[in-house]
Parts: sequence; C-alpha cells; structure tokens
Amino acid sequence: MITNKEKNLYRNTKQRQKILDLLVNSKSHPTADWIYLKLKKKFKNLSLGTVYRNLRILKETGQIWELNFGTGFSRFDAIAHSHYHFICSSCQKIYDIKIPPMRELDDRVIQLTGFRILSHRLVFFGLCDVCKLKKKKNSKNVKNHRT
Ligand code: ZN
Ligand code: MN
Repeated sequence: MITNKEKNLYRNTKQRQKILDLLVNSKSHPTADWIYLKLKKKFKNLSLGTVYRNLRILKETGQIWELNFGTGFSRFDAIAHSHYHFICSSCQKIYDIKIPPMRELDDRVIQLTGFRILSHRLVFFGLCDVCKLKKKKNSKNVKNHRT
C-alpha cells in the first residue's frame, strides 16, 4: 500500500525533475517566479514555496547554480559544465560566455594563498548587442537635435 508520505515524496521528486528539465532546456537563466508560472499550468496545486524549496534542494545537491548579480532577483542555471556569464547592465539579461574556464586562474590563487580551490566564477558586465545599438541611436538623436 502506498502511504500519503510516499505519494508526497513521489510528487516532489517529479516536480523537482520538471524544474531541472526546464532549466536544462532554457538559456534565459529564469527566476523562480518564471519557473512557477511555467509549471503552474501543468501542476495545478503547485505553490511558489514548493518551487523555492525544490530550487534550494537542486542547488544544495550541486545540480543548479543560483546566480545573483545584485539585480534583486536570483536567477537559476542548470550546470551542465562550468561556464562564465555576461550580464547586460541595461536590460539585465544574462548570457553564457562560451570560452573554456581558465584553470590557470585557479593555479595563481593557489600559489598566492595556498588555499584549495574547487572552482571559480566569472561574470562580465556591459551592454548587450541590442542595448548597445539602442544607446548608439539615442546618442545620434541627441546630436541631431543639437544641430
Ligand atoms: Zn541588454
Ligand atoms: Mn549560464
């Protein structure tokens, strides 16, 4: 006989797997809210609290990263492999940067501190292509206005 506890456990595991699948198949580094709204359609009695709890478990078991670059909201990322990020200072979009992680950086810190380094993270800040173009147009408009 299946107990309620076992039923809940099964449901939780299934929801957690769905969250992980969603993150693996998404390139946008979504927020918890976005994940919740997306899965709510499928799991009618899903709560935002459940999403947060599952995200925490996935993070603690090393399956996802929580990214917080001081933008207020945490973003989540399935860790297929170690990678770097770029965040646009204007639209706050997060992009994966596809250069191989620089192990020599770990070596330099090990040499300097004697610490055991397990990994490192790197994030670049600036303007993405779209926002760069917008800024260019705006500054042109300003110039035209002056003359
Ligand atoms: Zn941008
Ligand atoms: Mn990423």
